[in-house]
Amino acid sequence: MTAAFECCRRSAVPVVFEREGIVGGIARTEEFRNYRFDIGGHRFFTKSAEVSRIWEEMLLERFLRVRRLSRIYYNGRFFHYPLKLGNVVRGLGLWNSFLIVLSFLRTLVSPYREENNLEEWVSNRFGRRLYETFFKTYTEKVWGMPCTSIRAEWAAQRIQGLSLRTAVLGAVLGDRRKGIKTLIGEFRYPEQGPGMMWERFRDHIERNGGLVRLNHDVVGVRHDAGRVHSFVVRGPDGACREIEGDCFLASMPVSEMIARIEPPPPPEVLSAAAGLRYRDFLTVCLIVDHPDLFPDNWIYIHSPEVRMGRLQNFKNWSPHMLPDSAKTSLGVEYFVNESDELWNAPDEQLIRFASGELERIGLTRGARIEAGVVYRQRKAYPVYDETYRVRLAVIERFLREMGNLQMIGRNGLHKYNNQDHSMLTAILAVENIHGASHDIWRFNSDDSYQEEAQEIK
Ligand SMILES: Cc1cc2nc3c(=O)[nH]c(=O)nc-3n(C[C@H](O)[C@H](O)[C@H](O)COP(=O)(O)OP(=O)(O)OC[C@H]3O[C@@H](n4cnc5c(N)ncnc54)[C@H](O)[C@@H]3O)c2cc1C
Repeated sequence: MTAAFECCRRSAVPVVFEREGIVGGIARTEEFRNYRFDIGGHRFFTKSAEVSRIWEEMLLERFLRVRRLSRIYYNGRFFHYPLKLGNVVRGLGLWNSFLIVLSFLRTLVSPYREENNLEEWVSNRFGRRLYETFFKTYTEKVWGMPCTSIRAEWAAQRIQGLSLRTAVLGAVLGDRRKGIKTLIGEFRYPEQGPGMMWERFRDHIERNGGLVRLNHDVVGVRHDAGRVHSFVVRGPDGACREIEGDCFLASMPVSEMIARIEPPPPPEVLSAAAGLRYRDFLTVCLIVDHPDLFPDNWIYIHSPEVRMGRLQNFKNWSPHMLPDSAKTSLGVEYFVNESDELWNAPDEQLIRFASGELERIGLTRGARIEAGVVYRQRKAYPVYDETYRVRLAVIERFLREMGNLQMIGRNGLHKYNNQDHSMLTAILAVENIHGASHDIWRFNSDDSYQEEAQEIK
């Protein structure tokens, strides 16, 4: 959508093919009984002046400023995130806190020499014991694999600039110190959820001569002599049509793109793409008969006794997300694989399961759960496992040969991008069409903005 927006700005005529019947992709907003739900709460935060300007232009006064409160729930207690010294000591007790400091001191004396995986990376900065308390269970819930199998780059991209030392200094001194990374205490949010932003994009594109074709699945990508000449698109009537064009951009998962290319790429490229891994995501959205369950926008659920990973309270993102202020609408989030029992369970069963988990840890305060709905998101997270770099290098080499096809976005590049960086890759790709030579595969989101530790988006 951003690429099409940018094309319109340059008086080119874009056509967007979207497989689903709704715009927004992972950042869409679903609707059920006039309640609106995100696929995971979507904060709007960026360091890019350009992205910020576009967001403002699209939403004007309907782009809210929201104060952030998100805590960790662990062992029946709430912990502020970012960690606050007094709160941690009270929550864990003096003895445990002392052991955490001891473990951190031990790390200072003998750190892991090499930081290959997430366990080593986090332990070196926070000490082994704090890692086990606040990182291990949640991260393993999210990725469904041991922290020792997650590459250190993931942590470096997502938890950069933080350590126990900076967290403790921050707690004592506040954010007054120069050079210490601050954490984001406020974010922007469209009045009716992130989908509202992408609906505005669609309207803008269509007003400016572009086309957005929903329920159109790109099932084939035809090429010849190093150039893509057409997309084969299956429309809502089931019929396939060949659509020719000059320049092609794709934000579909790169593994799916490779599988659609005709004639097919060499076997090593096909096999590299087939081995890229993803984590899927499902959210059980519940309407609860209570006006005010807890003040957080979301809560990280570290407690190992429940499967849920995070809990959204959409009312605290925007009051316009629900039609009745006497109720609360929650998103109980599960990180899963498509092959998991949970993913394949019937919706009714999932609603009962999520309601039961919430009641068990006491977060619904005994209030009645009136209704629920389930949303599933395939390929929500590109996985940075031990093989992904080598696989991507093979894929990239092949795709670079096709001069007029550019991959963009999160899964298009198999990169853990937020919305703003997904958008920037699209803007750069359109600039390339107009003569620039940005290397989008190398576009580095890491330098331009810091993210909070433990933030898994
Ligand atoms: C749980 C969760 C929470 C997140 N929270 C945040 C947040 O707080 N802030 C933030 O900025 N970012 C957040 N993100 C990241 C954000 O969702 C992504 O960066 C962004 O949506 C990526 O946009 P995209 O266009 O690259 O890809 P997608 O959103 O994946 O869009 C790709 C589109 O391509 C379509 N498509 C796929 N295949 C085909 C095909 N063959 N033919 C036609 N269409 C096809 C899909 O239907 C989809 O609409 C979060 C992500 C997750 C999973």
